[in-house]
Amino acid sequence: MKSRPDFVDERHKAWCIHCGEVLASVETNLDHVPSKSILDRPFPENLPTISICRSCNTSFSNDEEYFIAFLGSVLAGTADPDHQVVERAEKALRRNLRLQDEIGTQFRVEKDTAGNDRGAFVPDIDRIRNVVIKNARGHVLFEHGQPARGKPVHITIEPLQILTTEAIRSFETIDYGPGWPEVGSRLMSRLVSGEDMRADGWVIVQPNVYRFAVVDNGQFVVRTVIREYLATEVVWDR
Ligand SMILES: [Zn+2]
Repeated sequence: MKSRPDFVDERHKAWCIHCGEVLASVETNLDHVPSKSILDRPFPENLPTISICRSCNTSFSNDEEYFIAFLGSVLAGTADPDHQVVERAEKALRRNLRLQDEIGTQFRVEKDTAGNDRGAFVPDIDRIRNVVIKNARGHVLFEHGQPARGKPVHITIEPLQILTTEAIRSFETIDYGPGWPEVGSRLMSRLVSGEDMRADGWVIVQPNVYRFAVVDNGQFVVRTVIREYLATEVVWDR
């Protein structure tokens, strides 16, 4: 990814977007958007970063580790570190036995409608949601230069494969609408230059690993597709 300067009003960046703390009064960290733990090494150059307060940054790290270990376990079909396909998941599961146990117990076998046994991992959804919202807030600030305030009005986190064809088509369709983003915002620069942006409007952070889109249609709508498996959508009223 190319480094994209932005020129929108700096006053929106005076507060931690997660807790509202005035950044000048606390220790801060540069936080990557999306979380590096979700991506593969080598990381894309010039990953977006935003300043957040250190205590929020620290508070997310456990959930970020859980997120990639859980997602990796789902993709591998096991929480066994020896059989992981995502390197960061393997590392997290090998390093953290408690986490490995926890995710291992989240594998459930249930009968499907035909009466056959079906195995599935059932996540600690609050932790998954926490990471998805964190990244979505970061995308809004980085792309639009504006904070997404308060609680989202809508969150969905679902594997693409369980969506209907029509739901997938609707989810994949990114419509930036007639209202252009603010002049000087990073999203405006992307729309003009096409930088990291596919013709269909998705911004590719790392191919097959992470893509996202942020649309402002009166609400902020942030969609991501992670590992071409997990589809997420977070919406804030403006
Ligand atoms: Zn904070």
